[in-house]
Amino acid sequence: MARGGRLLRQRVHERSGGRCHYCGIEKKLLTIDHVVPLAQGGTSYITNLVGACSKCNSAKGQLSAEVFIRNVLPGLILARNEKATRQRGG
Ligand SMILES: [Zn+2]
Repeated sequence: MARGGRLLRQRVHERSGGRCHYCGIEKKLLTIDHVVPLAQGGTSYITNLVGACSKCNSAKGQLSAEVFIRNVLPGLILARNEKATRQRGG
């Protein structure tokens, strides 16, 4: 992200309420994700940016948000829930 750096990151974080836009996990530090990837003609305006946890962001890669939410996110959340269940011993 060439311009806007820290302030933009802060605004995106506030806009997302400190939660990952995709999986909803609360994070002190969210990465900035392009809803429409730059490679697909997306912009770096705040309207195209959301806060995402690093896991969602790296899994999303160059996918559009729509494709990611439909095809990838359910598996991520399922894996996380299974892990949490195991850690509770249940
Ligand atoms: Zn996430």
